[in-house]
Amino acid sequence: MADGPIANSRSLIHRVGDVRALIRERLWLQVLVGMALGIGTGLLLTPESGWIGKEAGSIVASWLALPGQAFLAAIKFVVVPLVLASVIRGIAAGDNPEAVGRLGLRTVIFFLVTTVCAVLIGLAAAYLFHPGTLIDPGDLATSGGPGSASGSSGPAGAAVNGAGGQAPALAEMPRQIVALVPTNLLTALVQGEMLHIVIGSAILGIALLALPAAQARPLLDLMGGLQAVCMVIVKWVLRFAPVAVFGLMADIASRVGLKAIAGMAAYVGTVIAGLLVLMLLYLLIVTVLARRSPWGFLSHAREALLLAFSTSSSAAVMPLSLQIAEEKLGVPSPVARFVIPLGTTINMGGTALYQAVAALFLAQVFGIQIGVMGIMLIVVMAVGAAIGSPGTPGVGIVILGSILETVGIPTVGIVLIIGVDRILDMCRTVVNVCGDLTAATVIGARFETPPEPAPA
Ligand code: ASP
Repeated sequence: MADGPIANSRSLIHRVGDVRALIRERLWLQVLVGMALGIGTGLLLTPESGWIGKEAGSIVASWLALPGQAFLAAIKFVVVPLVLASVIRGIAAGDNPEAVGRLGLRTVIFFLVTTVCAVLIGLAAAYLFHPGTLIDPGDLATSGGPGSASGSSGPAGAAVNGAGGQAPALAEMPRQIVALVPTNLLTALVQGEMLHIVIGSAILGIALLALPAAQARPLLDLMGGLQAVCMVIVKWVLRFAPVAVFGLMADIASRVGLKAIAGMAAYVGTVIAGLLVLMLLYLLIVTVLARRSPWGFLSHAREALLLAFSTSSSAAVMPLSLQIAEEKLGVPSPVARFVIPLGTTINMGGTALYQAVAALFLAQVFGIQIGVMGIMLIVVMAVGAAIGSPGTPGVGIVILGSILETVGIPTVGIVLIIGVDRILDMCRTVVNVCGDLTAATVIGARFETPPEPAPA
C-alpha cells in the first residue's frame, strides 16, 4: 500500500531532506533558524523560566554569545579597510568628475530628505499613540527621580520652549562643521572614525580623478586588491553568521526577558509602528523611483536585514549590504561603493525616528509641553545625530541623552527605556540598513553609466 507507514516515513524523510537542503543553500533561512533557537534558549535562561538561577543563566548566556562576539570582531576587522578602498575606488574609477558630483549631491539630498521624513513619522506616531501617558513617572523614584537629571529643566508640568538649548547649539555649529574635515586620515583609520574615513576617502578619490590615468592607476589597483581581499574575508566570516546569531540572540533574550518588554509595550509598540511606516515608505520609494518590485527588493535584501536585526550594527552589515547591492540588486559598482559606505555612516532613518519617539515619550511621562521650537530642535538634533553617529549597537540611546538635554527633558528618563533599548536597537538597525539599500537602488537606477572609452 502506497499510503502505508513506510511510505509516510519515507516522504517525511524526503521532506526533512528537502528542508535540510533548503537551509543549507540559504543563509537567510539559517540565520532565521539561529535567531528563533537563540530567542528560545535565551528565554529559558531567564530566572523567570525557573530552569536556571540568575547567575548561572548569565554565565551560560555570555558563553553562548562568544561565537557572536568573535563574528562581530572579525567583521569589524575588515570594515575600515573596506570603506577606505570602496569609497576611493567608487569615486575614482568613474573617470567623470561631474558624474561624481551629481552622485554625491543626489545621495546626500536623498539621505537628508528621508531622515527628516523619518523624524516626522516618529513625532506623528508619538502624538497619535501618546505612549508616555500610560507610564507613571514615579517608576523613576528609585533612580533619583526627574529632579536629579543633570542640566535639565524641572519635573512634571514644566513648559519647555527649547530656547535655553538653542543658543549653545547654534554657537557650536561652526566648530562642528569644521570638525567634519579629517585633519589626519591615519588617525581616523586607526581610531575607526567612520565619518572622517568616508570624507577623507572621498577627498582622495576626487583628487585621484584630477590625476592623469597612468599616475592614478597604482593607487587604484592597490585599493582594488584591498577591496577584493576584504570581500574574501567577509565571505568566510558570513558562513558563521547563523551560529553567531544564535548566540547573540540567546544572550539578548536572556537579558531583556519578556517582562521588561511587556511593561513598556506601548512605547515599544509606538517605535515599531513608526519603523514599519518608514519601511513602507522606503518600499514605496523603491517601487516608484527605481521601478522595482518591493517583494523582489525585500527578498534580495533579507540576508542583510536579518543580520542587522541580530547584530544591531549597520557597520557590521556594511560588507554584506555592499555585496547584495552590487550582485543581487544590480546597483552599478561606482554607485554601490559610494552610497553604501556613506549611508552606513550618515543615513540612519530608523535611529532618528526612534529618537523622536523616545524624546516625546519621555516628555509625556514627565508632563512636559514641547513647544514648536522644541519640536524643531528635536528634528534638527535627531537628523544631525543620525548623520554623526557610527552604526554600532546602542549608539542611538547614547546620542538621545544629548537631545533630551538640549530640549530640556530630564535625561534620567533614559533609565526608563534602557531595559527595552536592545530590542528597539535591533529593529531600528534593520530600517537603517534598508534605507541604505533603498538609496543605492534608487540612485543606481538613475545613474548614467559612463560611456566606454573609444579605442585608441
Ligand atoms: N545600532 C544602530 C545601527 O547600527 C545605531 C543605533 O540606533 O543605535 O544602525
